[in-house]
Amino acid sequence: MSEYKNATTAIHAGVRQTQEQENSEAIFATSSFAYGSAAEAAAKFGGDEGGNIYSRFTNPTVEMFEKRLAAMEKGEAAVATASGMAALMTLAYSLLKQGDRVVCSRNIFGSSIKFFNAYTVKFGVEVVYVDATDYDAWEAAINSNTRLCYFETPSNPLYEVVDVERVSRLARAKGALLCVDTVLATPALQNPLVQGADIVMQSATKFIDGQGRSLGGALISSKEIVEQFVAFMRSAGPTMSPFNAWILLNGLETLELRMKAHSSNALHLAKYLEQHAKVKHVNYGGLPNHKSHELAKKQQKGFGGLLSFELNGGKDAAWKFIDNVKLMSITGNLGDTKTLVTHPATTTHGRLTPEEKQATGISEGLVRISVGIEDIDDIVQDVEQALNTI
Ligand SMILES: *Cc1c(COP(=O)(O)O)cnc(C)c1O
Repeated sequence: MSEYKNATTAIHAGVRQTQEQENSEAIFATSSFAYGSAAEAAAKFGGDEGGNIYSRFTNPTVEMFEKRLAAMEKGEAAVATASGMAALMTLAYSLLKQGDRVVCSRNIFGSSIKFFNAYTVKFGVEVVYVDATDYDAWEAAINSNTRLCYFETPSNPLYEVVDVERVSRLARAKGALLCVDTVLATPALQNPLVQGADIVMQSATKFIDGQGRSLGGALISSKEIVEQFVAFMRSAGPTMSPFNAWILLNGLETLELRMKAHSSNALHLAKYLEQHAKVKHVNYGGLPNHKSHELAKKQQKGFGGLLSFELNGGKDAAWKFIDNVKLMSITGNLGDTKTLVTHPATTTHGRLTPEEKQATGISEGLVRISVGIEDIDDIVQDVEQALNTI
């Protein structure tokens, strides 16, 4: 598919038509596949012959999603997982062993921090956190035991922007791999693999689905690394279902269009919030006074649909605002056509200790909005009337 441009790849890459000649991709709702002989079954299980074996690690609908996403991310291959967190687990358990070090940005998703702190260190892996944009700190923390560097860009919910090329150089110098979570940018806005990352991690639950219907995740990388992920998948089974793969495959088709609409609405709302007296500051990379605006412009094709802002008045003000929205949904998801509002400190980041919250910069007055693709006037009006109640 490499001869086609992104918007075309998103619609045509990975298609595998059956003898029924369907024009929309088929859902292969089957656990296993049947063979003509014992010898054929043995050859397929043993890897002497390619083909489908068992949907824990081979399913044609899931494979179509993997191929299309890999093409959009400009990677050689992808593996789909049950959720974004399943992708992180697959990454960690496939690549890490006792004695290894992970160097990780502090500003990552709450569950990702919990996963590293509760389940990765348990196996004798050391996780060291650094400020995402302190490149001296990255350099100092990456030692010869470092197997993996990990960060989000832009980060959820604070919109930290990390220089992929710069950290990838630091990682490579010590023989470490760099995995970048670009859930907020999606392959429509950023391709970290082209910028030097070794692996991209996606939660397909968010903008890739785009309508809040199903969970999914993926890791995209070289063939050699993805083979290691598939081997883990075969033994451990955090698999994406064919139904979800079909939904997400269709989600990819409209991703570029939706990301343009999300980005345009979010920028409009960010500018509105920025001048509001009750708002302390707004975290959105599209604002010219964002500390990493230039880097975001360089690395990304757009700024995406997620912003957060801090209200004067702490938790009381944040909850008052949230309790008074009319159009927006109060929910922990993001990346939906609907506009969604969240109080990170008590929901997505609620399981973090006060120290962890402080380290990641999640304050009590912080409100996150995943800006949908409704008419921007209606979104602004809802925000305005909810701000007026504080
Ligand atoms: C939601 C999210 C995840 C986890 O994905 P799930 O599909 O919910 O498991 C990881 N990283 C980021 C940035 C996310 O927003």
